[in-house]
Amino acid sequence: MSYVDEIYERVVRENRGEVEFHQAVKEVLESLRLVIESKEDEYRKIALLERLTEPERIISFRVPWIDDNGQVQINKGYRVQFNSAIGPYKGGLRFHPSVNESILKFLGFEQIFKNSLTGHPIGGGKGGSNFDPKCKSDREIMAFCQSFMTELYKYTGAAQDVPAGDIGVGAREIGFLFGQYKRLTSQYEGMITGKGLKFGGSLVRTESTGYGVVYILEEMLKKNGKELVGKKVVISGSGNVAIYATEKAQQLGAKVIALSDSQGYIYDQNGINLEIVKQIKEVRRGTIEEYIEAVPSAKYTAGKGIWSIPCHIALPCATQNELDLEDAKMLRGNGCIAVAEGANMPCTMKATNYFQESDVLFMPGKAANAGGVATSALEMSQNSMHLYWTFAEVEEKLRRIMVNIFAKAEDAAKRYGVPGNYVVGANIAGFEKVVDAMIAQGIV
Ligand code: GLU
Repeated sequence: MSYVDEIYERVVRENRGEVEFHQAVKEVLESLRLVIESKEDEYRKIALLERLTEPERIISFRVPWIDDNGQVQINKGYRVQFNSAIGPYKGGLRFHPSVNESILKFLGFEQIFKNSLTGHPIGGGKGGSNFDPKCKSDREIMAFCQSFMTELYKYTGAAQDVPAGDIGVGAREIGFLFGQYKRLTSQYEGMITGKGLKFGGSLVRTESTGYGVVYILEEMLKKNGKELVGKKVVISGSGNVAIYATEKAQQLGAKVIALSDSQGYIYDQNGINLEIVKQIKEVRRGTIEEYIEAVPSAKYTAGKGIWSIPCHIALPCATQNELDLEDAKMLRGNGCIAVAEGANMPCTMKATNYFQESDVLFMPGKAANAGGVATSALEMSQNSMHLYWTFAEVEEKLRRIMVNIFAKAEDAAKRYGVPGNYVVGANIAGFEKVVDAMIAQGIV
């Protein structure tokens, strides 16, 4: 049996029921088959893939906190420290009821390659809790974050593990987490990114994931003889990634016609009014349905179905496995020419394969949404140097990073004889650097 198949079977056997983790490993290993098979004996001898698919450490802990009724609540807390070959563990914290070890292992595994692709010295990690921040008061959020950090701080630090935000963790949560870390350790250091601008945060970090998605999309279109100007774009989600992908797409001349949340989606044929969305989502923490109160000509539909809207470009920016084969066929049938993943693994493997087989340009999340963590790395640099760069400086660095990621993915795909396959390209480019570092550091 080939080494790739053997390791996939081993991962399934030893991580029972962790279907998201299996899916992420399969997607990466399949796309690395050519590279791995060319060095199979060498890699097998040093158990490279066994090590790569086993987190260096998983920390799992209890998070007790008191709600506004005086009731004690208990949640699960985790940090998956997956791989530190090229730098301290780096990756977000997700607070969502769906969070479990499988989801965090899939996210942590993907993060290794994504972070490597950015070109910055950051390893792969992920963490979070099954805590649901929805409908909680600010005091409840603070109580939860303080309790979470009271355990997590033992394992984090600027040179050890640097968390950030993800679904359910934004500026408010990062502020509370940072405050508690500082209180517990007496260290004012860049131990978390996505901080507020007044206390060590970087300009552009808020916008960076969404902006990065559109920068790499524009580059992919350009290098394939197409352009973004005038294209109709459908974006799922209406959180941080979706909002700033919309902003940059609009700035670069595209027309964003739909957004969604977990309840339903809006379609505005005149183009989304982003200020209204920001008011609803960033200020009031409301639902996307409220958009039609401000824009009665727009249409709201409850439930899934956003991918049935005809568009040229689809940017899934909500969550994992939100776009399946049926959706992919519908998009292609309606004239979609390009897809870039703003979320982590939003397309199922069948959908991804379908896009590639039917010549829809496809940029995987590892490359497309790497702008967020890349800007986190820029925040870490500024923190270490005790200085701040301007908005224009950080944005230009981000743009260059995204263009570079495209070039790396394109080059690796060409080198291995699959030009235009950016899934294979991104995985190979991310993998090569991590593997070289792992080999150089011996059996650890
Ligand atoms: N959660 C983001 C991601 O999936 C950002 C992580 C970070 O900035 O460390 O990459």
